Amino acid sequence: QLSLERISKTFRGVEVLRDIHLQAEPGEFICLLGPSGSGKSTILRMVGGFETADLGTISLAGEEIGDLPPNRRNIGFVFQDYALFPHLTVEENIAFGLKCKRTAAEESKARIRSVLDIVGLTGLEKRYPKQLSGGQQQRVAIARAIALRPALLLLDEPLSNLDAKLRRQIRLEMRALQQELGITTIMVTHDQEEAMTMADRIAVLQNGVIQQIGTPLELYKSPANLFVAGFIGDPP
Ligand code: ATP
Ligand code: MG
Repeated sequence: QLSLERISKTFRGVEVLRDIHLQAEPGEFICLLGPSGSGKSTILRMVGGFETADLGTISLAGEEIGDLPPNRRNIGFVFQDYALFPHLTVEENIAFGLKCKRTAAEESKARIRSVLDIVGLTGLEKRYPKQLSGGQQQRVAIARAIALRPALLLLDEPLSNLDAKLRRQIRLEMRALQQELGITTIMVTHDQEEAMTMADRIAVLQNGVIQQIGTPLELYKSPANLFVAGFIGDPP
């Protein structure tokens, strides 16, 4: 349902994405894995509508969305810096998007309760972002995106600020919820263990080029080149 065709992007003469082809089936969980600067966030920002491609097309559910503004794409986004509204409490942050989509008050309350439970923040509804730790803010951002039940969820290193234990726990719960709701998800990470345990398929990026796309097992068993082998084969 999500399809990127021959996407290219140049920033000030430097090519940061070259001929990107990527398809995600409905409900599929795809990880973009690659080193810092390889173009992972740029791909997500482009799909989310915060960046335009120089070349190529992006379509979602058969509709070309490359020219639509972010709020018309039915896409949930968790940014690398999680960008919460500082003047709104945790529950207001989550309620904001639901209000924009005219969700009924009762339904809205129920969803807020359920997503906060999933990310383990029940009891912190009335706090403001500055009264939360980085990891807690990150989890609010995840909760806020999931609550909207978007057709597509884009996650840019959503677990990077969490300690190892919490990361493993939330990873499982997020994956279970994603499967239950059937939300197609693209998640950026440079943690190969995270990608291997969560993804249906992994796209390995290097210098703006997708080196290989496949299931964790395919990449592990038959890496296309030394770069992929090095990235996937590292012990966790
Ligand atoms: P990280 O893991 O560090 O977040 P990334 O894979 O997400 O890295 P991107 O943020 O997509 O990398 O950046 C890819 C390249 O594009 C980098 O070299 C970066 O400096 C460059 N770049 C990204 N955004 C811009 C911009 N707005 N203007 C100029 N260059 C940019
Ligand atoms: Mg990034």
